[in-house]
Amino acid sequence: MLIMKEMRYIAVLVLILSNLASIGLPAPVFGLSSEMDSVRLQLNWVHQFEYAGYYAALEKGFYRQEGLDVTILSGGPGIVSVERVTHGGAEYGTGNSEFLLSRLKGKSVVALAVIFQHSPAVILSRADSKIFSPQDLMGKKVEMGQMVNDAETYAVLNYEGISVNQFQLLDSTFNPENIINGSVDAVSAYVTNQPFIMKERNIAYSLIVPRKYGVDYYGNSLFASGKEVKKHPERVEAFKRASLRGWKYAFDHSDEIIDLILSKYSGSRYSHSQAHLAYERDEMKKLILPDLVELGHMNPGRWKHMADTFVRLGLVENPDLLEGFMYAPRSGAFNWSHRGVRAAIAVFLFVLTAAFTLIYFNGKLKGEIRQRTRAEEELKKNKERLDLVMWGANLGYWYWDTHIRKVALGFNAAEMLDEKPESVQGPVMEWATEKIHPEDRSDFRDIVMQHVRGELPDIDLEHRVRTRNGEYRWVLCRGKITDRSTGGDPLRAAGTLMDISRLKDYQKQLEELSIRDPLTGLYNRRYYLENLENRLSRVKRDMGHLSLAIIDIDFFKKVNDTYGHVAGDHVLSEFASLIVSLVRPDDIPARYGGEEFAIIFSDISAAEAGRIVSRIRKSLADTILTYGGETIGFTFSCGISDTSEFQPHEISCEKMITKADERLYQGKNTGRDRIVLPG
Ligand code: GH3
Ligand code: MG
Ligand code: MG
Repeated sequence: MLIMKEMRYIAVLVLILSNLASIGLPAPVFGLSSEMDSVRLQLNWVHQFEYAGYYAALEKGFYRQEGLDVTILSGGPGIVSVERVTHGGAEYGTGNSEFLLSRLKGKSVVALAVIFQHSPAVILSRADSKIFSPQDLMGKKVEMGQMVNDAETYAVLNYEGISVNQFQLLDSTFNPENIINGSVDAVSAYVTNQPFIMKERNIAYSLIVPRKYGVDYYGNSLFASGKEVKKHPERVEAFKRASLRGWKYAFDHSDEIIDLILSKYSGSRYSHSQAHLAYERDEMKKLILPDLVELGHMNPGRWKHMADTFVRLGLVENPDLLEGFMYAPRSGAFNWSHRGVRAAIAVFLFVLTAAFTLIYFNGKLKGEIRQRTRAEEELKKNKERLDLVMWGANLGYWYWDTHIRKVALGFNAAEMLDEKPESVQGPVMEWATEKIHPEDRSDFRDIVMQHVRGELPDIDLEHRVRTRNGEYRWVLCRGKITDRSTGGDPLRAAGTLMDISRLKDYQKQLEELSIRDPLTGLYNRRYYLENLENRLSRVKRDMGHLSLAIIDIDFFKKVNDTYGHVAGDHVLSEFASLIVSLVRPDDIPARYGGEEFAIIFSDISAAEAGRIVSRIRKSLADTILTYGGETIGFTFSCGISDTSEFQPHEISCEKMITKADERLYQGKNTGRDRIVLPG
């Protein structure tokens, strides 16, 4: 009964709407403008990727489709976009925090959309200037803009209790050479721009990032003059809509837009190369977060925070004029006489009446919808916050829906895996396994399966993944099944990825350092003893076989006394190389002590080991070792032991070493330069 009534209302509503459309609504309402409106967009700096979205909107006809004939005006030194816009030189402008400041000082400008969710402003210095924190700037030469242009830098100094009198403040020259040649110690810069030049010139640099000091400003944003918003609200909306469409296009087809900038927007002395533009794009992505935050999104709390900072810096007295700064769609005065507006009002009144009637019948339903919308908004906000936290912590997230066989990757996780952020579909387990290093695959499968069977509370393992260029990267993968079917089958799982490649590299270097002797590069005594212990246990378990040789250089003291310790070191290291070149790949040669060496020979008898040591002895005799023009000759004595000399239960490191040692001394006592075998 109720449904029938609603249907009737809707049918009447549709009928009236279609009649109104045919009798008099103006074409722009339906996006079919015949005449174009000319408007100008004033950029706040010279053409570069920072404005990619606007070029895309122009080139791809997004503005034209909205009935707009847009001219993009370049900025540059001395051009203040917000002034141009407030003085009527353009209807729209791009800018950083300075247009908020102008607003707070009474200028009529309105923020339409925030493009950079975080400001790219940083303080850049050469790493060798050792400027790692704002405090390190004291006493240094620093190039910075005016407070109005460089507000976040000044805010950081203010928060950190540093006054500009504590360093030598110089005006911005925008000349990167000054920092490169050291004529200034630090400059205010954009993280998207100058670091590229430093990298290109192979100069290590350091950045002070305001966000780390609690100053998190918006970066480049789009604004309009108050007059434009008041007089042409539809045009403002069309301009914003086309611009954001342009931004989306620019990120989806960034290479094309880079080519466009190179061909149509280059030629100034500040113009960037293709590589520089690509760098800018990659860095911008981290600040714009196009995959996480809706393009253009603004949060009144963040604007308020920025306004409060201006008050704190003494740039304005109070932030009251912030009211109305954020563009609210279709605000401002209407042209009441406009035929379209009249028709729109008629439609509006009708819809209002119809809506009230519907509300009357559907109060409960609407309440529910409202609640749901609120919950959805809250959810969206929470997701944004979560994304930011993940990004800040350099964690990627993944989400696996086993039911629809789909994995979604967060922006960071996609970057780590060198995949697209959108989801991977199909046989997910096969995809994951194929990407994982062959040596880590069985561990990965085991752990996942154990977790699926409920034997492990979560998934937590380090493994290598292959990137698109075929290299492997270490990641720490953690996660959990979050939903199971009533039968206990996994439905959904989620977790994080952390890139630990660098950590792993350090770990490997450290491990390598801890087992090597620094002079000869051979294994050290500790590793040798550990290895001997392990191999002997294996011999006992598998009834295997192993021989051990201990070598001591004869009269090495004399070598030192005659040629000096440095020469002694040199020949010790040469002798070590000789040993390495003659033993088998699986043998373990080690430096046992000063001029003593030990070699573990697996699976061979003392006699065979003796033959290898004989080859070392012969090769040493044939090799001419020199240092500082002097020829240095020496011999060695060697004792060898064999596990087959003992009952299996008697085999031990101590016994093997003692036996080899005894034979070594036997060699020493019977004239040296000899190899003594068992028996
Ligand atoms: P032999 O073993 O034949 O009895 O005589 P030797 O002179 O080699 O014996 P000894 O064990 O008395 O002396 C070993 C010498 O080796 C003492 C030390 O000067 C030298 N030596 C030990 N470690 C190093 C080192 O790292 N560098 C140098 N240059 N010499 C070392
Ligand atoms: Mg010795
Ligand atoms: Mg010796």
